[in-house]
Amino acid sequence: MALNLLHANDRPGLYPESWYAATAQPLSLCPALDGEIHADVCVVGGGYTGLSAALHLAESGFDVVLLEAQRVGFGASGRNGGQLGSGQRADQNMLEARHGLDTARHLWELGEEAKTLVKSLIARHQIDCHLKPGVAWAGSSDAEARDLQSYAEHLQDQYGYTQIEALDREAFQALCPSPDYRGGLLDHGAGHLHPLKFALGLAKAAMASGVRIFETSEVTRIIQNSPAQVHTARGHVRADHLVLAANGYLGDLQPQVAARVMPINNFIVATEPLGQRTQEVLTQDVAVADSRFVVNYFRLSHDGRLLFGGGESYGYRFPSDIRATVRKPLLQIFPSLRDVTLDYAWGGTLAITLARMPYLARLAPNILSASGYSGHGVGTATHAGLLMAEAIKGQSAGFDAFAALPTQSFPGGTALRNPLLALAMTWYALRDRLGL
Ligand SMILES: Cc1cc2nc3c(=O)[nH]c(=O)nc-3n(C[C@H](O)[C@H](O)[C@H](O)COP(=O)(O)OP(=O)(O)OC[C@H]3O[C@@H](n4cnc5c(N)ncnc54)[C@H](O)[C@@H]3O)c2cc1C
Repeated sequence: MALNLLHANDRPGLYPESWYAATAQPLSLCPALDGEIHADVCVVGGGYTGLSAALHLAESGFDVVLLEAQRVGFGASGRNGGQLGSGQRADQNMLEARHGLDTARHLWELGEEAKTLVKSLIARHQIDCHLKPGVAWAGSSDAEARDLQSYAEHLQDQYGYTQIEALDREAFQALCPSPDYRGGLLDHGAGHLHPLKFALGLAKAAMASGVRIFETSEVTRIIQNSPAQVHTARGHVRADHLVLAANGYLGDLQPQVAARVMPINNFIVATEPLGQRTQEVLTQDVAVADSRFVVNYFRLSHDGRLLFGGGESYGYRFPSDIRATVRKPLLQIFPSLRDVTLDYAWGGTLAITLARMPYLARLAPNILSASGYSGHGVGTATHAGLLMAEAIKGQSAGFDAFAALPTQSFPGGTALRNPLLALAMTWYALRDRLGL
């Protein structure tokens, strides 16, 4: 059996030792699946995608079972940078060049719907997850800063998006005094949140709507049939519809998805509380991401720590010293924090596609899948769950729009894609370091 990221880096059935897990109240453990049960819909995976699909289906009267291999929010949804970005992972210039202005506009609108959905779910279900407005993008060279500034103007002019402002060097330094950054943009319509608290809030809402959640229930086999059969070690579900929502942890469970969606690992640290020194990092409570190929991203936690993400790995195992891996980019951006202690360090697995756009697909008449959000999943995954729920109910223009985007297989198939990708990614990361 291929190495599976569900087991490679974590303790079974436990959340990683992240600052998020340390500051969230876990839900009581749901039972493991035992024996045969029936449902209208079976959802595999308890992250934003699966929880949102399950919640929206249950609210429409479907009988829904959700199977989660570990705990709800165990995957990327409980570990990420918490940035709720605008648009898609691929920017609008790229989408216009690839698909034309009309499709690019539709994809932009879908991105706006995703942000609105997250905000409205938080409000409607009273999820206390520290949602705050503002994400800045930073350029490390004058050329990158200029590109970001003209991108802000492009969104204002072509998309009527007025919640964004271009920041020159002085304005950026007033917001974020890193010696590395030369300017960029600030998106007031984007935001940031506590990702695990958001996932747990969705799970609570789903259960309150009648979703039957089974944890520590890893799906080991799917039989694509009508009804679909979904097997775990101790039981199986027969369901009219199946939703695959396992993202970077899918492994080889479904070959069509595995060929197009590739797991990669990314890492975050939380410093000790910085007190007054937060001013050395950020003067406003917004999140920041930069335009490097291996993106650095950071923000302040509600208890005054710097949460800093950076560094990637493309094999199955996390590096043995995550602190050292992330400390490097952290000190490049904030050299004055050399003496600061890193209280928490953790990694997570996300999934990317070659085009950096999500892969939504109807794999069989009664089987839908959504994954590959390429680091832009807080909004997009939650939205994809809603779109799959709409598609199961009958029709979803949003699902169809994503499903119509061409999604190429990774060269080398599932066996070779990791080594080949590692080579390509290392080359691009090296270009970053050399400033090419
Ligand atoms: C370190 C890091 C930082 C990130 N930062 C950001 C950010 O700032 N902004 C942003 O928008 N996105 C970010 N992302 C991406 C974002 O977190 C993901 O796109 C999103 O959480 C995907 O949600 P999901 O539900 O599809 O997948 P996941 O949250 O990974 O959930 C999949 C679930 O499926 C379960 N599962 C897998 N296989 C099986 C099986 N066989 N049987 C049963 N269950 C199974 C897993 O246990 C897991 O709980 C980041 C990701 C990482 C790792």
